[in-house]
Amino acid sequence: MIREYHRPQTLDEALTLLTRPNTVPLGGGSLLSAWTTDSISVVDLQSLGLNTIKKQGNNLEIGATTTLQQLLEDDNCPEALKSALKLEAPLNLRNSATVAGTLVACDGRSTFATMMLALDTKIQQTIFDNSKIDSRILNIGDFLPLRQSGLITSIQIPVNIKLAFEYVSRTPADKPIVCAALAQWNSGRTRLALGGYGKSPMLAMDGTEAEGLDASTSDFVLRSAQAAARNAFHEATDEWASAEYRSDVAATLAKRCVESFL
Ligand SMILES: Cc1cc2nc3c(=O)[nH]c(=O)nc-3n(C[C@H](O)[C@H](O)[C@H](O)COP(=O)(O)OP(=O)(O)OC[C@H]3O[C@@H](n4cnc5c(N)ncnc54)[C@H](O)[C@@H]3O)c2cc1C
Repeated sequence: MIREYHRPQTLDEALTLLTRPNTVPLGGGSLLSAWTTDSISVVDLQSLGLNTIKKQGNNLEIGATTTLQQLLEDDNCPEALKSALKLEAPLNLRNSATVAGTLVACDGRSTFATMMLALDTKIQQTIFDNSKIDSRILNIGDFLPLRQSGLITSIQIPVNIKLAFEYVSRTPADKPIVCAALAQWNSGRTRLALGGYGKSPMLAMDGTEAEGLDASTSDFVLRSAQAAARNAFHEATDEWASAEYRSDVAATLAKRCVESFL
């Protein structure tokens, strides 16, 4: 239950409020407004101007309160990311859920978080520990397992790289049982993230290839991605699917992602 609501006009004001006990940031509020027995105070971030998307060189800096729909409609949003965003939540929810709130609250079935993991997203966070306020940048791979507390002000993803997304779910609009996101930089660095299981998406592969996906290396990347995908899900059994099924499907989806780059 929300017992106190604050809507600060400046970041400093927000940070000061967030040093109070049982006080948390409110993004789109889609999760925080759900009924619970916990008594919390919320600091609504909507007046802080953190909902901008800026292209800076080869990166896209996405403000923390940017909604999923706003990102989906941005000219710089890659097509593969648009597909993942559409699966993350239906339109009404995408119009309120923010990128930061979604990363903080996500589980392993989050297509958005899986894509962010493949992209090696950087998370800009301000920490309010006792009376000390500090900033840091976290790699998403470090953030997701621990969800360190602190105010996320923006996230940064690379653009101008190859990106693919594939999934299998019960129905086309359902959250995936297995999904794969593959990112490849011009340097040939290739990251494969898998979602559809557990508490967080998992990184299956982060490999460096000097030549990228040309004819001589594509077969190696294909085999590496398939093997990595199969291994990553070797214990991924839950009520939705067995580990054996997930491993097979993950390998197939990884293959499709690699082949989409050729
Ligand atoms: C109908 C419905 C269906 C849903 N289905 C799913 C689902 O399938 N899977 C799922 O995972 N969730 C689901 N949710 C929960 C929720 O909608 C999503 O997790 C959503 O993306 C959260 O985003 P938000 O901006 O609304 O977060 P909020 O509700 O505002 O906050 C969520 C969490 O993130 C923290 N937070 C928000 N902004 C920041 C910030 N800038 N810095 C640090 N912390 C921050 C909050 O303190 C809170 O702990 C559903 C909700 C609804 C209403």
